Amino acid sequence: MAESSSHSAALQIDHVTKRYGSGSTEVTAVRDVSLSVSPGEIVLIMGPSGSGKTTLLSMLGALLKPTEGTIQLNGTTISALEENRLPDIRLRQFGFIFQDFNLLSALTAVENVAIVGELAGIKSGEARRKAAALLTELGLKERLDFRPEKLSGGEKQRVAIARALVNDPTLILADEPTANLDSKIGHEIMRLLRRIAKEQGRSVIIVSHDQRIKDIADRVLWLEDGEFKETVTMAIDPICGMSVEREKAVHLNWEGQDYYFCAKGCRSEFEDKLKSMS
Ligand code: ADP
Ligand code: MG
Repeated sequence: MAESSSHSAALQIDHVTKRYGSGSTEVTAVRDVSLSVSPGEIVLIMGPSGSGKTTLLSMLGALLKPTEGTIQLNGTTISALEENRLPDIRLRQFGFIFQDFNLLSALTAVENVAIVGELAGIKSGEARRKAAALLTELGLKERLDFRPEKLSGGEKQRVAIARALVNDPTLILADEPTANLDSKIGHEIMRLLRRIAKEQGRSVIIVSHDQRIKDIADRVLWLEDGEFKETVTMAIDPICGMSVEREKAVHLNWEGQDYYFCAKGCRSEFEDKLKSMS
């Protein structure tokens, strides 16, 4: 079962198809999709409503079995595992972030996070310490003992992110994570998620139709009628720090290394720096 994939992808999806129903009511929600995600990579999947985003994400999180194709996580073919193995994998390998946060209203912020650690077998005191540390890192030090009703939308979302991180998952899956947030706050929280994911080497897959979060992604995939239509690879302009689409950016190849810029001005500034260093 634990066959390893040919390279070091955290997540490997091969020819995955999902059909709902049968006969005249059959719907193909996801159609022959393949994708490989590296450790620490952040992939944004965009597409119109009904294009199959939630179906795809549910299969990646082992909440739904593909009709055809395989999904491997760290070399384990999760799409072939028995149902009774899945809850444990979901708890330890995945961090889910849902648009409606799904926090437990009777528990405080720190308890909402700690309980997920405890479910995975972390001792109560340690789970609490870990939860408090994560929430502090996410800027909620003063909110640890607040119940969800006393938190703003953005604060609830950060609790949801801490909960998704507490078991050190391989993969974080987020479905429309900014949908219930003011777009500026949503964008800031996604930047925070990116920073933590990069620092800790966790892969992230976000599905959304929020254009503003494109620049936190390493790659943006466009899903339409259950198929990937277009891929955009993002890069950071080393001069101004702006996120740019490689395919449209000003390009420089310097000693075999590719660099991408928002404009020629940034490129010439960079070239001057390189020349002065060499
Ligand atoms: P998105 O998240 O991009 O809006 P979905 O994955 O929810 O797309 O849906 C993709 C397609 O599959 C749609 O045509 C939807 O109606 C259909 N679909 C989704 N879930 C089910 C289901 N449980 N049963 C039947 N059809 C479904
Ligand atoms: Mg959806």
